[in-house]
Amino acid sequence: AKQQGRSGYAFFSNEMREHAESRMRLLKDLRIAQQEQQFCLFYQPIVDLKTQKICKAEALIRWQHPQKGLIRPDSFIPLAEETQLINKMGEFIFTTACNTLTKVQATGKQLQLSINVSPVQFTSKICHLSKWYKQLQALDLQAQDIVIEITEGLVMNAQPRTQKRLNALTAQGFSLALDDFGTGYSSLAYLKQMDTDYIKIDKRFVDGIADSKDDLALCEAMIMMAHQLGILVIAEGIETYEQHQLLLSAGCDFGQGYYYAKPMPEDALLAFISDNEKL
Ligand code: C2E
Ligand code: CA
Ligand code: CA
Ligand code: CA
Repeated sequence: AKQQGRSGYAFFSNEMREHAESRMRLLKDLRIAQQEQQFCLFYQPIVDLKTQKICKAEALIRWQHPQKGLIRPDSFIPLAEETQLINKMGEFIFTTACNTLTKVQATGKQLQLSINVSPVQFTSKICHLSKWYKQLQALDLQAQDIVIEITEGLVMNAQPRTQKRLNALTAQGFSLALDDFGTGYSSLAYLKQMDTDYIKIDKRFVDGIADSKDDLALCEAMIMMAHQLGILVIAEGIETYEQHQLLLSAGCDFGQGYYYAKPMPEDALLAFISDNEKL
């Protein structure tokens, strides 16, 4: 029994060591990635449900790893947040999205671009959010053309510092969207107070609407309440025609998902916009 206990312990600590080592490797890689600019943004179209025409797009970060290829954010954002690397990354995301928006506008098209802003960017000591408005002005862009996507958790646990930064952004005219809506505990009345322009209904609800009366009822209720408060609704993760139809009937305003388009590089977005216009 003693033998077993010892090997059990050894196994556990090996696992822990491997976990720590892979974290260290990832962190080292992330630092290199930042220096060598291996990050890029993909853009996923958001359509007006009635016309199915693109009117917005969400910027989603990708890591072009020299050996591993394209890496999706879920595997590195958490570590970037823990180590504050997310702040530099956040600057890159904002600057890159602004450059893309400039290119879109140069084609004569109108588009609102969404960026995901991490809760860490609202709580960290050094704040780059305060420079964003000046950056926009330098590029001759309007603040309302940038939608800041935040998560429900940020709103619920808002520290005074977070509240102040959020208020400053909305006062400057930035649009605000609440991401992953319905998964947390925020109340819509509270959102209205935060000057929220959009809620994004989480994919988890959209997934079920064709099969579950409850999921459909939840979506309908969220849409109705949001509209009563003057908040517009974007549904995420729409993959089928049936989901599209149900959300359209429920009065949802905008849709995002593989049914319309997957996230794509900037040049593909520019092509998508001009093709979409011809429809
Ligand atoms: P999110 O903000 O909820 O983004 C939506 C995610 O759903 C994206 O995954 C998108 O590719 C995926 N998606 C969209 N439509 C569909 C669909 O029809 N079916 C399926 N199966 N998936 C769909 P992605 O790009 O892997 O991003 C994952 C999460 O990582 C994002 O969730 C967001 O929380 C975070 N993230 C992405 N980019 C950034 C960024 O630039 N900054 C920060 N802080 N977080 C980011
Ligand atoms: Ca988002
Ligand atoms: Ca606003
Ligand atoms: Ca989401």
